Amino acid sequence: MQLSNIIFISVILIFIFGFIFDRVLSYLNKNSWKKDLPNQFKGIYNVEKYHVAMNYSIINAKNGALESSLSFVVILLVLYFEGFGKLDAMVNHMFETPIVRALAFFGVLSIATSMMSIPFSIYSTFVIEEQFGFNRTNLKTFVLDLFKGALLSAVFGGLILSLIVFLYIQLGASFWWAAWLVMAVFMLFMMLFYSNVIVPLFNKQTPLEEGELRTSIAEFARKVGFELENIYVIDGSKRSTKANAYFTGLGAKKRIVLYDTLIAGHTTEELVAILAHEIGHYKNKHTRQSMILSLIQAALLLFLLSLFVAPGGTIAQAAADAIGAEPSFQVGVLIFGILYTPISTILGIFMNAISRKNEYEADAFAKEHYSGEHLSQALIKMSVKHLSNLNPHPTFVFVNYSHPPLLDRLKGLK
Ligand SMILES: [Zn+2]
Repeated sequence: MQLSNIIFISVILIFIFGFIFDRVLSYLNKNSWKKDLPNQFKGIYNVEKYHVAMNYSIINAKNGALESSLSFVVILLVLYFEGFGKLDAMVNHMFETPIVRALAFFGVLSIATSMMSIPFSIYSTFVIEEQFGFNRTNLKTFVLDLFKGALLSAVFGGLILSLIVFLYIQLGASFWWAAWLVMAVFMLFMMLFYSNVIVPLFNKQTPLEEGELRTSIAEFARKVGFELENIYVIDGSKRSTKANAYFTGLGAKKRIVLYDTLIAGHTTEELVAILAHEIGHYKNKHTRQSMILSLIQAALLLFLLSLFVAPGGTIAQAAADAIGAEPSFQVGVLIFGILYTPISTILGIFMNAISRKNEYEADAFAKEHYSGEHLSQALIKMSVKHLSNLNPHPTFVFVNYSHPPLLDRLKGLK
């Protein structure tokens, strides 16, 4: 059999198996809900709230299933009708320079995928989240978010893509290490400036005001030897009642950000416990670890990609033949992107396992240096408020969860 046929069949099989894999996991997860309130949830959920959480999870799963089924069918149809090859021929016909061709090709694809996902996101925000009392977004904020998000991906995505294609033209297949440097610089830039450049486009951040909470946080930070100047409150309530806290930045730019909705729903002790968990991530060097792992992954990805776009290369030619196109950067990226999905699923499972381990470590830090009791209370409150699935299927957790389910974390904190 010819290499191009093997690639084409692999692409189709990867789509079909990926889809079945997702559907099976989702089905198992849906069926792991018990009709009656399980004993171990007593004291966390009452019967009524438990059923609301079950409905919320099932409705979300249905919406997700519909969306992934639609994109599955559309992509198979596009492959069947050689849509990618036709799109490539079109951009080649319309534009001369390789950079503009690549920009147009991926621009069209990303507009098409957004068009498919926007209706589901509208339904999720204004119907599901609304029905369960989470939604605070109005139409204006929603549309502005879409617009700003699109603009950001056009600017950053466009710049990075142009730069990578430029390097590809200059260096041929060995462009991958230079592209890796570009990605590393971009990641560092994002780590340093995310709070100053990106967040203000969407949210207001204000320094946490002087008072009991700020004093308690500062006191705890001092106790564990954590330099913390920047504690900010973000207006998450603009979009949702759901709450969160996160840690961002490096060195002197590091800051802790608390959602206003989090502050509203918790006691000072619970909030300090949540921050103790976040500081635990930092103290255990999880941020650095995840950055290094992403850089290694990026290097692997770009190196493998270089095989698919190598000018005059056998694989690049076969990949192009598989979808009825001429070999080019964008065609190589597209085919490689599809063939890479199983690898990225496996890497994702691996990363999730590390992340779950890190969550236990950050919890243990909070327990040791502050209070396991208060953190448990905070986690329970948050889970109930967010209608979390307390009994996800273990296989679903293994593949998809970056955080351990609540009951496991509570056990760790005991
Ligand atoms: Zn965490």
